[in-house]
Amino acid sequence: AKALGKNQFRIFDPKLAERQELRIRLQTELDIALKEEQFEVYYQPKICLNSNTLLEAEALVRWKHPLRGLISPLEFIPLAEETGQIHELGAYVFRSTCQFINELNTTLDKPVRIAVNVSVKQLLKESITQDFFDIIDTVGIKPNQIELELTESAVMENIVEARKAISAFQNRGINIALDDFGTGYSSLSYLAKLTINTLKIDREFIKDIPESEESKAICRSIISLAHSLGKSVVAEGIETEEQLAFLKQLNCDIAQGYYFAKPMNKEDYINFCKTQKTE
Ligand code: C2E
Ligand code: CA
Ligand code: CA
Ligand code: CA
Repeated sequence: AKALGKNQFRIFDPKLAERQELRIRLQTELDIALKEEQFEVYYQPKICLNSNTLLEAEALVRWKHPLRGLISPLEFIPLAEETGQIHELGAYVFRSTCQFINELNTTLDKPVRIAVNVSVKQLLKESITQDFFDIIDTVGIKPNQIELELTESAVMENIVEARKAISAFQNRGINIALDDFGTGYSSLSYLAKLTINTLKIDREFIKDIPESEESKAICRSIISLAHSLGKSVVAEGIETEEQLAFLKQLNCDIAQGYYFAKPMNKEDYINFCKTQKTE
């Protein structure tokens, strides 16, 4: 440590320095990964609780790093948002998903729908709606086969711009879900004015069910709020039979989680679809 004065030292934190170095390296490696398509999109089923059938899937991106192995999106999405690389990555995920939908259209006898996560940086880009419509048209799927998941806090902090993009998407038949619901601080009047189709309860409020009375109360209120506003509700992160039973009892519409299936690669998702009856 370097002496700053009597009894004052700047502490060298190797962990922090390592982290910053890793960050810079990851940014360079993200560029390479984008060029070399080291990403793969996984798909996790969402189950309709009313009919007990497969409703749709959520697309979740994975980075298959040639040396580091599988890197979690929690690690590289925030970085890609900061550096602006999220636009290229987001377009890649969206295009891959549309192409997979197209493949499923010819493989399965029922049309499918897949939800794609869109970060606020993407949503605020002026051309985002046209960019996505172009991909949908080029690949040749129907817009209503796509759903978008936008995080609650991101939408509420950018309400004016978000509303514009949301209605443009909805006018083409694309459903919009508010992700991580309950973790942001939604004003109820904003929520009522938003034309969002679906609220997605964050896993934070699912994981401690049935022990936590607080979590159960929050789930109860979100579901009743959603239903009184005419929106459907998804519960994410369902891992146990008890959690499922609790949400069913509250008339939650849709459920997703390891209890049903983990996110899967394309091949496994196709096989999963084939074992399921759809509506
Ligand atoms: P999210 O949108 O809230 O997605 C749910 C996360 O919970 C996923 O983690 C999923 O694999 C995980 N999960 C699902 N069911 C269970 C369960 O029963 N138990 C537990 N413990 N976890 C469960 P994942 O795939 O690591 O993604 C993390 C986050 O990264 C996502 O959170 C999303 O915010 C972001 N993300 C992933 N893919 C994309 C993408 O293509 N674009 C953007 N913008 N963000 C993405
Ligand atoms: Ca999501
Ligand atoms: Ca979440
Ligand atoms: Ca999220």
